[in-house]
Amino acid sequence: MSHVIGILTLLLVAAPAGAAWKAGLGKVAITPREAIMMGGYGARDHPSEGVRQDLYAKALALDDESGRRVVIVTLDLAGIPKNLADPIVERAGSAYGLRRDQLMLNTSHTHSGPLAGYRERTSYRLTAAQEAVVKRYSDHLIGQVVGVIGAALKDLAPANLSFEMGYAGFAVNRRRVGRRNLPQPVDHDVLVLSVRDPAGKLRGVVFGYACHATVLNDYLINGDWPGYAQADLEKTHPGAVALFVAGCGADQNPLPRRSVELAEMYGRIMSIAVSQVLSGKMKPIGAELKTAFQTVDVPFDTPPSRDEWRERARSADYAIAAHAKLMLAELGRTGKLRTSYPYPIQLLRLGGVFTLVALGGEAVVDYSLRLRAAYGWDNTWIASYSNDVFAYIPSLRVWKEGGYEAADAMIPFALPGRFAPQVEEIITGKVDDMMLRISK
Ligand SMILES: [Zn+2]
Repeated sequence: MSHVIGILTLLLVAAPAGAAWKAGLGKVAITPREAIMMGGYGARDHPSEGVRQDLYAKALALDDESGRRVVIVTLDLAGIPKNLADPIVERAGSAYGLRRDQLMLNTSHTHSGPLAGYRERTSYRLTAAQEAVVKRYSDHLIGQVVGVIGAALKDLAPANLSFEMGYAGFAVNRRRVGRRNLPQPVDHDVLVLSVRDPAGKLRGVVFGYACHATVLNDYLINGDWPGYAQADLEKTHPGAVALFVAGCGADQNPLPRRSVELAEMYGRIMSIAVSQVLSGKMKPIGAELKTAFQTVDVPFDTPPSRDEWRERARSADYAIAAHAKLMLAELGRTGKLRTSYPYPIQLLRLGGVFTLVALGGEAVVDYSLRLRAAYGWDNTWIASYSNDVFAYIPSLRVWKEGGYEAADAMIPFALPGRFAPQVEEIITGKVDDMMLRISK
């Protein structure tokens, strides 16, 4: 009898609660190997002049106890347009059998990385040679990201996952700069998912925060504050891979800014905030994964008439004229402009402990605050800059206030114009619908 009890005890020790997850991590440098036009600021007028810090593509692969799988990929890039995400999704699908809902692509929104993707440009003036560099970089990047997904899948091994939140305060509502009568919503929560081996050693940490990566604006390649945060975390926790997931920071800036010291300091603050969560009590996550991916059409407002476009095409402002010419060319080619955009929404539900909602575009902080209030502050993680970064996504409040995030940013994104005022209701309505299904 005592012999049998001994075996049972051994079995219980060997399989602690939550260890039914398998996790794998991968990391590859995606630093451009030649001078390249940089993403983020339309005002930069020449290619990069060197590298201050390497950029990375990182992947966390997760299998639950039923073999359900997801791979979270984070990229130190300003954004990922659909025409760059699609070939990655396609190749990862044929190489590893991943469905669209099993692959999440998030970008840090660093404004000190390369331009990537094949977008029509209205705000960056690129020569044909510079366009060729961006295309070369993007073509190479696709293979690198598919490769890092493969590396993470190969690395799958038993792991324990846990979740908790911390706090950091450097994000400022940037719409108040120059308009101090505006409200100042922020979301200062730091969301942390830890991945530990069965012995408790940290193998990976995914952390989220809602703030632009715009401390620096010079010509040296670097990951801005998220790059410094990830580097500091990996130094503090040797052997672990740190992945940053950008939140709804479309209207949030790190302030003050514009020095390397500040970029490093915000990175350090974030790293400390994450480490404090890691060293405290975290909620263990049972090995049950659910994933969902859908698009919902978000309509644009009525566009200007052909005559108005012709008028704008004569503007002395390069971006306004280039944008109008692009729209006229589209009208000439097809007789119409795009009336809506397929907006991607992805949900990852881990063990019922938290649900990560990954929104496309650059969503303002109101989305984070509204959805977390609706679904629970302690168990809802709202990411943005995911799967297709194609435009700013205003809330109705921001839409009504007007300005850059509400309308003007459609020019650099080469879309017909601002969204219709229903944009927030349509997106949150779709999230509601997906949340209901995934919670069953
Ligand atoms: Zn932005």
